[in-house]
Amino acid sequence: MRKLFRNDSGRVHAVEYDEIPAGPARWLHAQIDFFATKVSPFVPPLGRGLRALGRVIERSRSQRRTLHARRGVVLATGGYIHNPEMVATHAPAYVRGLPMGTAGCSGEGIAMAEAQGAQSRHLDRISAWFFLNPPSALCEGILVDKSGERFVNEALYGASVGRALVEASGGHAFLVIDRALWRRARAQVGGGQMQLFQTLPALLNLWFNCGRAATPAALARRIGCDPAAIEATIERYNADIRSGQPDAMQKDERALLAPPYRAINCSLDDWRWPLMTLSLGGLAVDEANNGVLGNDGQPIPGLFAAGRVAAGICSNQYVSGLSLADCVSAGRRAGAAAATG
Ligand SMILES: Cc1cc2nc3c(=O)[nH]c(=O)nc-3n(C[C@H](O)[C@H](O)[C@H](O)COP(=O)(O)OP(=O)(O)OC[C@H]3O[C@@H](n4cnc5c(N)ncnc54)[C@H](O)[C@@H]3O)c2cc1C
Repeated sequence: MRKLFRNDSGRVHAVEYDEIPAGPARWLHAQIDFFATKVSPFVPPLGRGLRALGRVIERSRSQRRTLHARRGVVLATGGYIHNPEMVATHAPAYVRGLPMGTAGCSGEGIAMAEAQGAQSRHLDRISAWFFLNPPSALCEGILVDKSGERFVNEALYGASVGRALVEASGGHAFLVIDRALWRRARAQVGGGQMQLFQTLPALLNLWFNCGRAATPAALARRIGCDPAAIEATIERYNADIRSGQPDAMQKDERALLAPPYRAINCSLDDWRWPLMTLSLGGLAVDEANNGVLGNDGQPIPGLFAAGRVAAGICSNQYVSGLSLADCVSAGRRAGAAAATG
């Protein structure tokens, strides 16, 4: 879908789209799109290459068509996380994240509606996932920034840790554990606590992104911080555990850290532990029927939006399930309103 049309009374009444006619090119395009979405989280350059190949087929084989809508048009074209220019414009702190979502999440629906005078909301909101747990033992270590200070409760939900990683640490962070925690984490991997998509990254990080440091000075060299700072941070963490004081970050599960330490690089520029990102904001809609709102705050007749192309209940703060729940409830409202409109 490329363009929306409004009639003389301002109602959205048609869409223009490109279609690859049924046949081998269409089949191949569908396979490429499917694999691009599957491989993107693991091998981003391969995903980008496959998408480029898909676009070549689209350009050379598709035919332009127009579809007229008798009652209304519902946009359900996903978010914009695969559009690097939009990420740089609306959420520049997240440009180093690994975009998640389908290959088509490139903001086209948002752009098409904006071209018709629609307004958007919360485009700066990104869900950034950084799950230390599982294996749960990793949460008992400490995440420190480039000054050797902790900046988040390591046991929080992964989207909260991810946001802190971007917005509080500036994207430079190391997880400090010790040999005992490394062994417990290693035992938890494959111990029935984890699924395959969690097991592989955990093994990668425990084996190939886990530098040893016998002393605080060696640890400081790995992190790139002042040795006295990281030594003081570890001492404070241990002292609170020994004295039974609450944790400075309100974490419940804690373990004393003792040399030799291990430091896992969690920085955004390290490919071994990518920060997975998803856009949350989208077109402003009327909450009663998901009609898209114009810049004047009034509904654009005949135009509805649901899912991540629209702002919804998860747009300010995401937790697992909230986006899909929003897609279902908003889609139902939009569909019902468009069908009776
Ligand atoms: C790995 C992963 C795990 C997730 N886990 C959870 C979870 O546990 N809980 C939760 O709530 N959410 C989760 N999400 C998020 C959730 O899946 C998405 O937010 C949701 O699927 C978005 O649905 P949507 O219909 O808005 O967009 P999509 O599912 O992205 O669908 C949009 C479709 O529109 C197509 N499209 C785009 N532009 C055009 C165009 N111009 N013309 C025609 N078609 C177009 C796209 O190709 C795509 O097929 C997860 C996402 C990922 C990637």
